[in-house]
Amino acid sequence: MLIPQPPIPPFSAPYAPDDRALAARLLQAARLEPAQEARIDRVATMLIEAIRANDDPLGGVEDMLREFALSTKEGLALMVLAEALLRVPDARTADQFIEDKLAQGDFVHHETRSSAFLVNASAWALGMSARVIQPGETPQGTIGRLTKRLGAPTVRAATRQAMRLMGNHFVLGETIEAALSRAQPHSSRHQRYSFDMLGEGARTADDAARYFNSYASAIEAIGRTAGDRPLPDRPGISVKLSALHPRFEAVSRARVMSELVPRLIDLARQAKSHDLNFTVDAEEADRLELSLDVIAAALGDSSLAGWDGFGLAIQAYQKRASGVIEYVDRLARSLDRKMMVRLVKGAYWDTEIKRAQERGLDGYPVFTRKAMTDLNYVACAQQLLGLRPRIFPQFATHNALTVATILELADGESGFEFQRLHGMGDALYAQLGEDRPDIAFRTYAPVGSHRDLLAYLVRRLLENGANSSFVALAADETVPVAALLRRPADVIGTAGNARHPNIPLPRDLFSPQRENSRGIEFGERAALGQLVSAVAAEAAPATASIVEATSADANAAIAAARAGFKAWSRTPADTRAKILARTADLLEQRSPHFIALLQREGGKTLDDALSEVREAADFCRYYAAQGKKLFGESEAMPGPTGESNVLVLRGRGVFIAISPWNFPLAIFLGQVTAALMAGNAVVAKPAEQTPLIAAEAVSLLHQAGVPASALHLVQGDGRIGADLVAHRDAAGVVFTGSTEVARAINRQLAAKDGPIVPLIAETGGINAMIVDATALPEQVADDVVTSAFRSAGQRCSALRLLFVQDDVADRMIEMIAGAARELKIGDPSDPATHIGPVIDMDAKARLDAHIARMKQEARVHFAGAAPAGNFVAPHIFELSDAGQLTEEVFGPVLHVVRYRANRLDQVLRSIERSGYGLTLGIHSRIDDTVDDVIDRLQAGNIYVNRNMIGAVVGVQPFGGHGLSGTGPKAGGPHYLARFTTEQTVTVNTAAAGGNAALMAGEE
Ligand SMILES: Cc1cc2nc3c(=O)[nH]c(=O)nc-3n(C[C@H](O)[C@H](O)[C@H](O)COP(=O)(O)OP(=O)(O)OC[C@H]3O[C@@H](n4cnc5c(N)ncnc54)[C@H](O)[C@@H]3O)c2cc1C
Repeated sequence: MLIPQPPIPPFSAPYAPDDRALAARLLQAARLEPAQEARIDRVATMLIEAIRANDDPLGGVEDMLREFALSTKEGLALMVLAEALLRVPDARTADQFIEDKLAQGDFVHHETRSSAFLVNASAWALGMSARVIQPGETPQGTIGRLTKRLGAPTVRAATRQAMRLMGNHFVLGETIEAALSRAQPHSSRHQRYSFDMLGEGARTADDAARYFNSYASAIEAIGRTAGDRPLPDRPGISVKLSALHPRFEAVSRARVMSELVPRLIDLARQAKSHDLNFTVDAEEADRLELSLDVIAAALGDSSLAGWDGFGLAIQAYQKRASGVIEYVDRLARSLDRKMMVRLVKGAYWDTEIKRAQERGLDGYPVFTRKAMTDLNYVACAQQLLGLRPRIFPQFATHNALTVATILELADGESGFEFQRLHGMGDALYAQLGEDRPDIAFRTYAPVGSHRDLLAYLVRRLLENGANSSFVALAADETVPVAALLRRPADVIGTAGNARHPNIPLPRDLFSPQRENSRGIEFGERAALGQLVSAVAAEAAPATASIVEATSADANAAIAAARAGFKAWSRTPADTRAKILARTADLLEQRSPHFIALLQREGGKTLDDALSEVREAADFCRYYAAQGKKLFGESEAMPGPTGESNVLVLRGRGVFIAISPWNFPLAIFLGQVTAALMAGNAVVAKPAEQTPLIAAEAVSLLHQAGVPASALHLVQGDGRIGADLVAHRDAAGVVFTGSTEVARAINRQLAAKDGPIVPLIAETGGINAMIVDATALPEQVADDVVTSAFRSAGQRCSALRLLFVQDDVADRMIEMIAGAARELKIGDPSDPATHIGPVIDMDAKARLDAHIARMKQEARVHFAGAAPAGNFVAPHIFELSDAGQLTEEVFGPVLHVVRYRANRLDQVLRSIERSGYGLTLGIHSRIDDTVDDVIDRLQAGNIYVNRNMIGAVVGVQPFGGHGLSGTGPKAGGPHYLARFTTEQTVTVNTAAAGGNAALMAGEE
């Protein structure tokens, strides 16, 4: 495979550096002369006044309001409904959806805050100059009253009209031809366009080809009508790399470089032939390095020489923005080309914050205070202006202060333009056009059908509705102009204030109780490279040290544990907790070692192995924190005077911990640390497939300070497990594995004489996901593929049975199958691998037999190809009835069943009938459907509109009911107590002759 290479060394910069140092530099550089500041004030004030004077922000809305006899308030409420309606594909469900929302309940969200937010968002999106809907009012109430007045059919028609208006407001045309003809009358030397083809990123090869074709034909159409003025005074197109490749992700770099770069070169060449401005949009931070690799490699193609139209967007909310500008300048110089650079603030801020928190990063790749973004924007603008004419800066903003500042920094020189989004910033740029006819601006004009509008619209609504957004504040007459003129440097003040006080660092997410486990971002090449080399450097462990235990060994381990119990149970809870916290620290220090083990012994991919180490560390810290609370102090109980009553929790004795191979580190350590924290001595028996990981985990605990006498490891298969369970000194059993073995253990325990022994069992499930017609196919495809195939489907939480509403089933299944086809199956130590091997030959044989049977009994939608070895490729089968799947199939096999919208009840019944209740997924935008399903089904972990695996300790405590387990949930607040026995101590404090405390009390 020939991999195109960038002409200069790849971009590299710290991914999420500390804000303080950056702020110090930016604050220093932000100082301007008083005369300059005064000019900025003057220009910005004039622009703000123009924005506020504009009373016709949205042609059409007035007509609609008149036509349907609506007040503005009602019109806005309809807009909120319309926003949600855009997601619904078919007319029948759309009607159902409207009825549902009109008939009952708050139709956007249950919390008043978020519905209020959306109301405001829509209001601002429409450029309304006041918040028409008052605090306390809800869109639902408004629509409810309206329905009474006008009747549901009129409201339905008005909602559709509102939907069209929203579409028209933010989208220039449904086709490129329509968009071009709408743009044409406005195009002039100083009003330019950059067209954008709407849509979610590609999930399948077909999607990518479709987007490629749509870009290609748009370039042709734009080129045909581009006129004969030279660049930069020509129209352009904006492309998203994620639309051109189904796996546009850092770990798939080699593939992306070899497949995507040629596509990008093709499109760029075509744009060159019309001398257009061709801009690569900026996407999520983890894709930045990869984007720059792709861009540099494409730009380096000699066929693009002599053309100045290639460009890219750079996000100023990213801490690496200035470094990216330097890199782009270096690139342009090395190729002796000119480039166009669009400076934006960034559109994915909320996503970035969430992702960094989920990944447990050391910091955020973006700033956490809006003023820091603004400050950085101005600094980057200055940097770009200094690089003219090699770089042609394009300043994309709707912020009047930002515009005025840039005008000042440009100091009357030309060689740059402003940019705005279609439907935003009209008044500002109209005013600017009057005052400064020499300054050009370009409109970014989305093109696409209303169905594809959703993701784009949500971004714009968020952008316009956010309290910090300039557009929102400028539209709010109650905000004084002076407040809008406040400089970002003044808002920040000193470098120490650079971080948002209420957004904790990802590592402090659970502070003060515990630290979040440390992760890394695979989109940061340096971090990924370091991890991969560290893992590769780990020597293969010696298997010789593993000795299978005999029954005598098992008995001896229990006897020794019994002897060790006394001292350990008397060790203060605080000390026990410290030992667990130390274990977590050691685990993180040695994560490459454990990752290597998980890969070699457990066949885990890098992503899975890292997540597992993190989960194990989380278990240690979570149980330590919980344990300190539960066992630290005895709990005083209320009672009569003259008596003290306290409740204490104590360890039970020797706990037997039997764990599975699919999470050989996390579940193993989760069980053991919970039992230890509760004051028990432990005899642990890991799965026979993964003995080394368990041995290393036990040695880690011993190093951290767990006495050898309190924790014993017994290796072996189920027979040794049975010996341990049967032992008369086993005071409790914690087990994770199959339902059959859990039952056998239960019987064994019940048959024993002596004390009745508690069993904590976590078993499997036939986990289902329900997808209705309101769900977004791309999101469903991502979540289904992750839930069904990640870890080769070897998670108890994995999705086995997908129920899809038949109206959308064909499209959904096609996209899921297409996305599954893009997964790489093979060597788990290769970071590009998505699916590793299954655990052993037996597992493979069982899965192959099931697949062979399904090929006979079901409709095959996808049958992947696996390399030689213990690999099983993903398969997707459609069943005519859910009952065809009678048992848990522990591998990458997805079963799909279609259902009719009015038969959801049957679906729920069939899920109930299975008797399992572990995980459940729901993809629906109809809150009532979601609520009904949650109300009806008792699954232990329910996930709405996301994937259904990867429960996080202390966040999504994990475990099911029915055939899926006994509870309590692992990683939850009720878990530790189950490992204990309770004792109350009552002391008659008046025994010594009287109740002195009572007598001493004053009135
Ligand atoms: C022509 C054009 C093209 C665009 N292309 C892209 C693109 O390729 N990629 C892309 O990501 N975006 C793109 N955008 C969207 C762009 O990021 C937003 O429109 C822009 O951020 C709005 O900035 P503003 O100056 O108008 O508004 P302002 O209200 O002044 O600033 C809003 C910015 O502040 C950020 N912000 C809000 N709160 C915080 C906080 N607490 N901490 C840090 N930052 C915060 C927001 O994320 C947003 O970036 C484009 C916009 C335009 C006009």
